[in-house]
Amino acid sequence: MSNVSINELSILTLLKKLITIESVNPSLVNGGSGEEEIAKFIGEFLEKREFDIEYQKIDDNRMNVIGVLHGNGLGKSLMLNGHTDTVGISDMQIDALKPVFKEGRVYGRGSFDMKGGLAAMMILGEFFANSKQKLSGDLILAFVADEEFASRGTEELVKKYTADSAIVTEPTGLQVVTAHRGFAWGRIDIEGRAVHGSLYEQGIDAIIKAGKVLLGLERIESGFTELPKHPLLGRPSIHASLISGGTELSTYPSSCSLQYERRTLPHEYRKNVELELQSLLREVQKLDPDFRAISDIFFYRPGLETKHDTPIIQEITRSALEVTSVKPELIGALWWTDAALLSEAGIPSVLFGSSGEGGHAPIEYVDFDSLIKTTKILATTIMNYCK
Ligand SMILES: [Zn+2]
Repeated sequence: MSNVSINELSILTLLKKLITIESVNPSLVNGGSGEEEIAKFIGEFLEKREFDIEYQKIDDNRMNVIGVLHGNGLGKSLMLNGHTDTVGISDMQIDALKPVFKEGRVYGRGSFDMKGGLAAMMILGEFFANSKQKLSGDLILAFVADEEFASRGTEELVKKYTADSAIVTEPTGLQVVTAHRGFAWGRIDIEGRAVHGSLYEQGIDAIIKAGKVLLGLERIESGFTELPKHPLLGRPSIHASLISGGTELSTYPSSCSLQYERRTLPHEYRKNVELELQSLLREVQKLDPDFRAISDIFFYRPGLETKHDTPIIQEITRSALEVTSVKPELIGALWWTDAALLSEAGIPSVLFGSSGEGGHAPIEYVDFDSLIKTTKILATTIMNYCK
């Protein structure tokens, strides 16, 4: 391994401390503490190490903290981005907030997703603040709220901060994630006519009409299976997620509401999904004059696709080779991440981090050796990218 001297004991101590600070996302789990306490802990740590600190309030008990180590303005700026919130802890089979280090693994809620990444960022901050060799470009450490729910943290962050590149330090098993799909959540409200169940000439059954929409969604989905596959991401998909309608057995249902999720490829946009659904509704309407429905996309997030010749990808690859003698693979992820919002804001972004298991699961751990490697690789990346 290359000789970047990272204080391994401090990473372990910091990671354990971060796990003990409960930062469950309150939008996800009622009663979750939010990110204020952990943000203040991180902010105070970096403030003592020459970083300029800003807290961005998102809501009660919820905030981002951003630390900037200013270069001389002649080099490229790099942002490291990590989320401070975690999913809930009630179903955990280990002590969620009392971290244990055992057989090379650190157990606890958030150890893997992603307080390991946060500890690495803090130690990197300390390392470059203390380093005699100053960086030319700015090093921006962004610790954001709400990634596990609606990404309000990164949404707020990009209103004010930018960089020449960004690395989201989510756990990626020491591979570089350059792409993932986006998604749209939509609703289709189908209108019926409520009358007594005996009045078949007047009633319009919204639930049976919804069946036609469901068959249409199935047609869209099977159409996707015929598309050429994206090399990293496969194909788009759509599935019906929720359905509700009807009031009682003896009444024609006056409405039925369907909600669906459409996973998009990076070259697709909200508009694509809107048009797809509108054309489905038009088709149904053509064959059934009684059919009335409205379609609405109520939440949309773009996908991520960062070109493989982007300088930051080349720099991480080179640094990983230098530190571990292993060339990381450039891969796609199944899940959505904040990197898509950074990328949409014009910051070429990728994900790189440690390995482990059990994000969102009853037993969660991060592999400590991989976290040390992550930290050293990122240190080398920052040194070369911001020099
Ligand atoms: Zn995460």
